Amino acid sequence: MLRQTHIIFGAALVTAVAAYGRWSAAEIVIAIFTSSVGAVFPDFDLSTRHRALLHSVFALAAAFAVVIVAVSLLGATVIENAAALGFALGYISHILLDAVTARGVALFYPLSKRFYRIAKLRSGSPGANRILQAISALVLLLSLLRWASLM
Ligand SMILES: [Zn+2]
Repeated sequence: MLRQTHIIFGAALVTAVAAYGRWSAAEIVIAIFTSSVGAVFPDFDLSTRHRALLHSVFALAAAFAVVIVAVSLLGATVIENAAALGFALGYISHILLDAVTARGVALFYPLSKRFYRIAKLRSGSPGANRILQAISALVLLLSLLRWASLM
């Protein structure tokens, strides 16, 4: 999927979690920012084993471990925890979104080189990207409305 699709899908996932977790506005803003980093990070493997090296549950766990250590060193305040969770949600959203494409993702690389998918959308398809962006924007908006109604 396109980078902007990954970013808005990650933001939608963060706001959906935030709405149910009753996060503060500051937590939501920082988590959306870090989710955008997490949502694009896996594609740093574009020049190597794309959709394998950084698209596996092991890479996700390793990246999250690094973020958790960094957050702990910074003092692990509520805001820093939201930043870490935002990054993880963005990363997870990236893998989910790539899993709905025809190529799928090597979820258990390097233990297995098998690619898994749950749908067969074309990643570069403008229509598929627009529909996913629209759904994400709707989820984001509805989640923010729910969040605001609970404040
Ligand atoms: Zn990807």
